[in-house]
Amino acid sequence: MDIMYQSTRNPKEKVTASQAILKGLASDGGLFVPERIPLLDVSLETMKTYNYQQIAYEVMKLYLTDFTEEELKNCIQCAYDSKFDTPQIAPLKQVNDTIYLELFHGATIAFKDMALSILPHLMTTAAKKNQVSNEIVILTATSGDTGKAALAGFADVEGTRIIVFYPKDGVSPIQEKQMVTQRGANTHVIGIRGNFDDAQNGVKEMFNNKKLEEAMKKKGFQFSSANSINIGRLVPQIVYYVYAYVKMLADGSLKEGESFHVVVPTGNFGNILAAYYAKSMGLPIGKLICASNENKVLYDFFSTGTYNKNREFKLTSSPSMDILISSNLERLIYHIAGDNAEKNAELMQLLSQTGVYEITQDMKEMLQDFEGGFATEEQTANTIKTLYQNTEYIIDPHTAVAASVLYDYIEHTKDKTKCLIASTASPFKFTRSVMRAIDNKYDAMGDFALVDELSKLSKTKVPKAIEDIRIAPVLHNTICDPNKMQAQVEIILEL
Ligand SMILES: *Cc1c(COP(=O)(O)O)cnc(C)c1O
Repeated sequence: MDIMYQSTRNPKEKVTASQAILKGLASDGGLFVPERIPLLDVSLETMKTYNYQQIAYEVMKLYLTDFTEEELKNCIQCAYDSKFDTPQIAPLKQVNDTIYLELFHGATIAFKDMALSILPHLMTTAAKKNQVSNEIVILTATSGDTGKAALAGFADVEGTRIIVFYPKDGVSPIQEKQMVTQRGANTHVIGIRGNFDDAQNGVKEMFNNKKLEEAMKKKGFQFSSANSINIGRLVPQIVYYVYAYVKMLADGSLKEGESFHVVVPTGNFGNILAAYYAKSMGLPIGKLICASNENKVLYDFFSTGTYNKNREFKLTSSPSMDILISSNLERLIYHIAGDNAEKNAELMQLLSQTGVYEITQDMKEMLQDFEGGFATEEQTANTIKTLYQNTEYIIDPHTAVAASVLYDYIEHTKDKTKCLIASTASPFKFTRSVMRAIDNKYDAMGDFALVDELSKLSKTKVPKAIEDIRIAPVLHNTICDPNKMQAQVEIILEL
């Protein structure tokens, strides 16, 4: 009954879950996928009384089949503890007819904490299981939130180092301050003069560089990835969709068997892919509504069947979604091709050579559960303002992209199905954009004065993650060009 993992580009390389977590990316540059998607084996009704940790175990045990019960439960207990500011871990908020699944109650107040608080534990457990004695070097490209969440997760974790690259001018001031103040002797943070795709490409090149791998091995290092391409990120993200459904059953928002739509503000396609896996496991999700900002590659893909990254890259108020190559989409492509690695490899080669690929008619038909939408900067800001004026609930720009897309969807379809919005960041993480959306008089105020003002408007306490960086000293100040990323890694590891 063990589930093995294989590359999306080659069916031959099969590894266990723990090996897939350690490797991050398959040797051929593909992503690891489970050879089949397991079905939930405890009924949703039964889980009504379970807490987050118990549901996490029921979901994750089905994927991480080479972890013992004790190992997995231990990882879960270490991850979902008082680092979260609520014992519910991922609380639901009903606002008007919509339910917001708040995924931002962890250490860095964005949804990346949901997976990155457990990944270091999965990884060190996986290393022990596989008799790995090398030090694990986590190499990560970030559009803002992954970086900080990964740094917080791995800081001072024995047997690991973490190196984070972020686009110097492509993250919010608070995101940058959160990263460059990171403590921990094993943490390294580097800004690059480029955008997120440059950072991600640089990281991918290092992962595929055999000479670098050799040089690292000699010094007792091996790379792994904390990016959302790691299966150890994807699996923990399936959990909160099951959790949300079960809680909606328990509080009467949904009747047994009733389905609901999910709306996900999307960048690298990890979060919404987790919802797709949850649906494939038997969770009664109706539509998977994929919300993009003005970098609407995915919207165009779902409407035409053609993926085309050759376009202007836009910096928006939802920087964690400013992405033109959504890495995790490769897993969906592989699945809708009928788990066909050869077809997927062909399309991915086209993507890397020309920036464009088109899926077949058969593949398009497999996408009927997906619905693409996008929000302009103006729609996003209006959504924040109107929601605040009508309900006093304040959402961040990423979540607002999703809310705006949902309003459009409902207006066009008159669909009455219950909808769940994945709320991916605390408004405190993007204070300036949020306050500007509410009233441009706030433009004149300083970052932390704005934080206090937001606290007043939203009638919520300033999160600890923000209090902590008010006075924290800058500990990282290296900046480099995208083509010097490897040189930086060589300096850090003394290769
Ligand atoms: C990462 C992130 C997203 C995008 O999630 P993907 O899994 O990359 O699609 C959306 N919102 C916020 C706040 C994020 O940090």
